[in-house]
Amino acid sequence: MQAVPPSPADLASMPRPMLRQWCTDRGMPPFRAEQIFQWLHVAQVRDWAAMTDLPATLRATLAAEASLPQLAVQVDRTSALDGSRKIALATRHGQAIETVLMPMEAGVTQCLSSQVGCKMGCDFCATARIATRANLTAGEIVEQVALACRLAVESGLARGGVAGGQSGLLAGRPRNLVFMGMGEPLDNLDAVVAALDILCDPKGYAFSPRRITVSTVGLARFVPRLAAAHPGVHLAWSLTATRDEVRDRLMPVNKGVPIARMVEALRALPSHPHRKITFEYALLHGHNDTADDARTLGIMALQVGAHINAIPFNAWPGSAYRRPPRAVITRFVREVQATGASISLRESRGQDIGAACGQLAGERPA
Ligand code: SF4
Repeated sequence: MQAVPPSPADLASMPRPMLRQWCTDRGMPPFRAEQIFQWLHVAQVRDWAAMTDLPATLRATLAAEASLPQLAVQVDRTSALDGSRKIALATRHGQAIETVLMPMEAGVTQCLSSQVGCKMGCDFCATARIATRANLTAGEIVEQVALACRLAVESGLARGGVAGGQSGLLAGRPRNLVFMGMGEPLDNLDAVVAALDILCDPKGYAFSPRRITVSTVGLARFVPRLAAAHPGVHLAWSLTATRDEVRDRLMPVNKGVPIARMVEALRALPSHPHRKITFEYALLHGHNDTADDARTLGIMALQVGAHINAIPFNAWPGSAYRRPPRAVITRFVREVQATGASISLRESRGQDIGAACGQLAGERPA
């Protein structure tokens, strides 16, 4: 029988304490972990041989036994409408994911993918139609941010001051990160938590948790673990319907985790001064856009202390849904406001390049 080679050590997926353990387990001093972490996440070097302050023998061992993050750009499109940039990437295994860079007034917000495809099966979402499914590693999640840094610096768009006085490649760091791309982050929680560890590490990307939002379809049992690991990170719940019978149809996950269960999970979270909770509400004409829906949504948001982002549906080829007419959207927003709840109407960015909410479908080169 042929021997199976050991899988290469994935050092880029390791938060600093784990990397330190990996080094000490191999008889190396802990400062080696600090050096490797700096090379991977600050200098963003992707060649072990170029890590010049590591001993030559260690560099050779790493080249033989450790993998480096690898995401190849397949398609890179910029929206003529709002300057959003959708970048389709191929993982080491050739699977397609996407990340979106959205220029805002204060800086760039990057939308990250956490999985290839998504098994949650939301009926209005193009990602759910992708047949291939896989979890991304923490290194692959972080690599999307590394790519954004490199692209910003290469194009001269880096604004070190805005990024918190960072220099080098980190001067190109996006201002905000949202885990709202392909996949359900809480379905790949170990990797997402490790990625957050690396992204928030003061010796790494040094993101403030207040600049990061993790979205979930409502996997209530994982919410406490995420909040315990990163209490200051914002939470967004893709709610999209206020009645179980409607949500069961739109979002099959609701059959296992009904609305009340998720409300209970959010209300049970220990309070944190900086964490914001938002309800993401895709407006689907004829399904969830009545005045009654709006009032129920407003009351639910008040119960949880959540802000509401209403997002008129973004059509994609083959979708059976459409966005409500402008008058219906306006009435919906007014009805929510009448309950006392706060609501923003969010027009998704990058609609003309298939980069808007619910449109990410794993584009490949033509
Ligand atoms: S909306 Fe989010 S959770 Fe639902 S299928 Fe799409 S990516 Fe998955």
